Amino acid sequence: MPGFRQELVALFGQPVEENPTQAMVEAAFGAAGLDWRYLTIEVAPEGLADAVRGARAMGFRGFNCTIPHKVAVVEHLDRLSHAATLIGAVNTVVRRGDALVGENTDGAGFLAVLRSRRDPAGMRAVILGAGGAARAIAVELALAGAASLTVVNRGAGRGRELGALLAGLVGELSVVELGGGFRVAAETDLVVNATSIGLFPDVEAEVTLDLAEVAGRALVADVIPNPPETRFLREAASLGCETLDGLEMLVEQGRIGFRLWTGAEPDPAVMREALRRAFAAS
Ligand code: NDP
Repeated sequence: MPGFRQELVALFGQPVEENPTQAMVEAAFGAAGLDWRYLTIEVAPEGLADAVRGARAMGFRGFNCTIPHKVAVVEHLDRLSHAATLIGAVNTVVRRGDALVGENTDGAGFLAVLRSRRDPAGMRAVILGAGGAARAIAVELALAGAASLTVVNRGAGRGRELGALLAGLVGELSVVELGGGFRVAAETDLVVNATSIGLFPDVEAEVTLDLAEVAGRALVADVIPNPPETRFLREAASLGCETLDGLEMLVEQGRIGFRLWTGAEPDPAVMREALRRAFAAS
């Protein structure tokens, strides 16, 4: 006989009004026939410790963390995955028995999309950005055997921090200050915009990476999920480059979280459609 108690997962962040994850995950719960709920909960920084204690007390199966909790949540957890330890940030927490385990699915989601097109082993990649998304992607690329990483960032400090994190994880590493722009070298296999440039509503903002030397050859990716058809990806496609968009990445990182929480396989088409509708309505 079916019971009346639902399994709970959640998102903790501030602000969370515009976050579409609930729409994606609950659509997947419904399609998988799971009576689970995903709650979008605004948690201020000073309330994070209590929120995590509350999640433990109420038997949450896990939760996502977004800005500003991805780093701060670490001290409230029992252990971290290898990638989350290296990245130094957690976006997905999973309850295993009585323990809360921190994972980071941002980079893994990106890698899942990448692997559907090309093998990351031996790749030479240029990553624009040094924030949370860039750190996660760079670490996962290094763990997947990328041969060379070039981190290009506007702020020198954050670029250096990411460089220090990657030292020893990858054979060839350069950290470059963006300045007025950066010309991507001809031998590059993968170019990633891992900044917030292009995010709605500032959709015409320009990514100042010059792709002329990799035209028709490099795979070009963007983390921006809304709108996924970014100006940067349109320009790359017009140069004959194959592209990967941030909506696919968001779906893939959501799929990984869903599997970790439920042990079941979600339907990615349902998740993608739910996200598209959520973005169209926002
Ligand atoms: P952070 O705030 O941690 O980092 C932002 C990065 O963008 C920094 O490197 C910053 O450079 C750079 N940046 C911002 N504006 C500019 C600009 N005008 N010119 C040059 N560089 C700029 O954010 P996150 O890394 O957490 O998120 C970045 C983007 O990734 C967001 O848009 C988010 O939506 C997206 N994202 C997508 C995911 C997906 O699944 N598709 C998952 C996670 C994130 P500086 O250091 O100089 O400030």
